[in-house]
Parts: sequence; C-alpha cells; structure tokens
Amino acid sequence: MQRIILHFDLDAFFCAVEEKSNPDLISKAFAVGGEANQRGVVASCSYPARMVGVHSAMPMRRAKQLCPDLFVVPQHRQAYSEYSRRVMAMLGNLTPLVEKLSIDEAFLDVTGIKGNGESIARDIQKRVRDELDLPCSIGVASNKLVAKIANNIGKARTKSPEPPCAIEIVPVGSEAAYLAPLPIRELWGVGPKTAASLHELNINTIGDIARQERDLMVYHFGKNGYDMWRHAQGIDNRPVEPEQETKSISREITFTHDNRDEGELKRILRRQAEEVARQLRKSQMNCKTINIKLRWSDFTTLSRQTTLLHPTQDEKLIAKKAIALFDTHWTQGKPVRLIGVGVSNLNDAAVRQLELWETEQTQKSRKLQSTLDDLKERFGDSSVKKGIDIKKRGK
Ligand SMILES: [Mg+2]
Repeated sequence: MQRIILHFDLDAFFCAVEEKSNPDLISKAFAVGGEANQRGVVASCSYPARMVGVHSAMPMRRAKQLCPDLFVVPQHRQAYSEYSRRVMAMLGNLTPLVEKLSIDEAFLDVTGIKGNGESIARDIQKRVRDELDLPCSIGVASNKLVAKIANNIGKARTKSPEPPCAIEIVPVGSEAAYLAPLPIRELWGVGPKTAASLHELNINTIGDIARQERDLMVYHFGKNGYDMWRHAQGIDNRPVEPEQETKSISREITFTHDNRDEGELKRILRRQAEEVARQLRKSQMNCKTINIKLRWSDFTTLSRQTTLLHPTQDEKLIAKKAIALFDTHWTQGKPVRLIGVGVSNLNDAAVRQLELWETEQTQKSRKLQSTLDDLKERFGDSSVKKGIDIKKRGK
C-alpha cells in the first residue's frame, strides 16, 4: 500500500513561544539562549536574525558580532515543553502514528486519512496556527527520508524575515528525480568525512550516488554505502514508530569556567553516574554500555564508551567504569569545559533479575540503593548521602 508520510517541524519554535509572551519581540532580531559573556550558545533565533547569518548552536558572542542589535532572551523550557505537549497531542488526535523526533519535530503516517497529502498538511498547518498560534512547516512524501529532506528544502527556499510556513510535496514516483539535483549532504548518514570521500570519487549530488553501481558503493563504504545508494533512489521502508522507547540516559554539565580539578571532576562523574543509575532503576532498566563525554576548551568533544559483560543498574559500577574511561583519556591539568556520563544498550530489568550470576553482595547493594531512592524521592536529593559522600565533604 502506498503510504503518505509527513515531516512536521515548528518554525523557530522557542522564538515563536517567546513572541507569544512578549509581542514586542515580533519582527525583531533576537536569539534565545545564554548570554554572550557566559559562553552562551544560540538555542534558537528569529528569522530577522537568520537573515544576517545568525543560526542555532552558534556561540552567542559570534551572533552578537554578526548582529550587534541582537536581543538575547533567556530560555523558558517549561513553556516550550508545555506547547510541545499540546502540539503533539493535536497531531495525536489526527493519527496514532506520530513519531516524535525532538521537542518540535515529528513524523506522521497519515495513510488512509480523509484527503490527500497536501490537504492534510494544509489542515494541520492551519489548526496549529489557529489554535496554538504557532507557525510550522511540513514535508509530504511517500516515506520518512524524502519527507524530511523535502521539509528542509521547502523551508530553505523561503528567504524572508517571516517564518517560512512551508509545505513541500514530493509526488509518488518522483522521489529519485526530486533528490537527484540536491547536494549529497542533504542525505542522512552523510557527514563531513563521508562527503569528502564522495567528492574525491567525483560524486557531488544525490543523483550521482543513485547512478553508481551498488557494489561499488558497498566496496567503498560498506553497509553505509548500500544505505546511501538505496536512499539516493528515494527508497526508505522504515515505518513511523510512535513512542520511541528510551535508548539512552545521560547527564552532563557545561562549566562557566574551564575545570581542571581532578578531584572535583571525578566527584561530578560519580554524582552523574548516581543520577543516571537512579533513572535506570526508576524506569526498571539495565544498561550494558557506559560512556563519558568530555569537551575541551577548544570545543572539540570526545566520547568514549565501554561495554559490560552483564547488564547493570548499579551506580557504583557505572561510576567505576566512567572514572576508568576518564583516567584513560584525561591528562593531568587539561582544562575541561563539559563533562558527562551516559548509559545505553538498555534492556528490561525484570529479565536480568532471574539471571544466576548475581551475588549476595550485589543483591544487598541493590536493596540499599532502592531504599535510598525511596528516601530521595520523598525528602529530596540533598537529604540522603552515603558514607563516602559525607566523608568527602568533611575533608
Ligand atoms: Mg523547528
């Protein structure tokens, strides 16, 4: 059966919410994010700001250079979450097949719903505008890959200080022709490295990939080569998957000033491991992979991971592995700007509890942790510390 897939994306979402609470901001150049002097970064920026080259993820200091009159508005995350919830609920009323990609972005499978792709998209755009007063853009195609690319292209086409409110439609059967003239970077899975290798082979557009022999793409790029080759033909059979299950849990912190204090960095890692483990226990999950993330003062980021033999939710084990990774990759005195701990490769804890490798010691430790979790839940985080934390503090 022919599918109709929409890629839905709110236009400069955080800015649109800010304009609702402060109409003075409308048609002004402003950015939501942290202040320039605090090493802030642009989380979202208005279309007038985009006209002069400001974009999200840009350091605020740089944005101010490009646009000296730029207003900087602090983030109101609760308001964004609340509007996001309302938008997603509205989409969910239309079809249960909504796959949320981020706070302001989702795929919808609207196959079988009254109307055609275009009329459904227009209807959604109008309702989000009328009922929530938010602008959005929509890509319409027969699969996720093409719908997402179409939306990017549709939005980029409108160069004006107004939100694009684009609707871009790729008719069934014209997927490959639509993609053909686009640069390879528009394709999923083509990062700077892959792009450089492709250019070396004189492959510059998505059409160039589509024209290659499949085996040649596999020869050069392995499985990713095969995927690129299929995607370049406009083929993507992945279903829209509602309710993405939790795939990873992480905690990280960005410092206002570079941090090179080994003791403190390790204390932070331990606390992050504790928070991650608590979230695992709350969700009744175990992890098998533990990773750390470190960003240095020149903004380069390093992620390193390690995989366990047996799944765990034990904060001590997670902390131990995180610190071991840290010890391997941090050289004494090297300034750290961001540090974080994450876990992935998650599975259901109920399964694990039947496994026989669990020793009496780990059982005891788990019992203690779940009692501590209860207390923290009831009395707040600072009320409960285990011996080692208290000793550290007193030092
Ligand atoms: Mg958006």
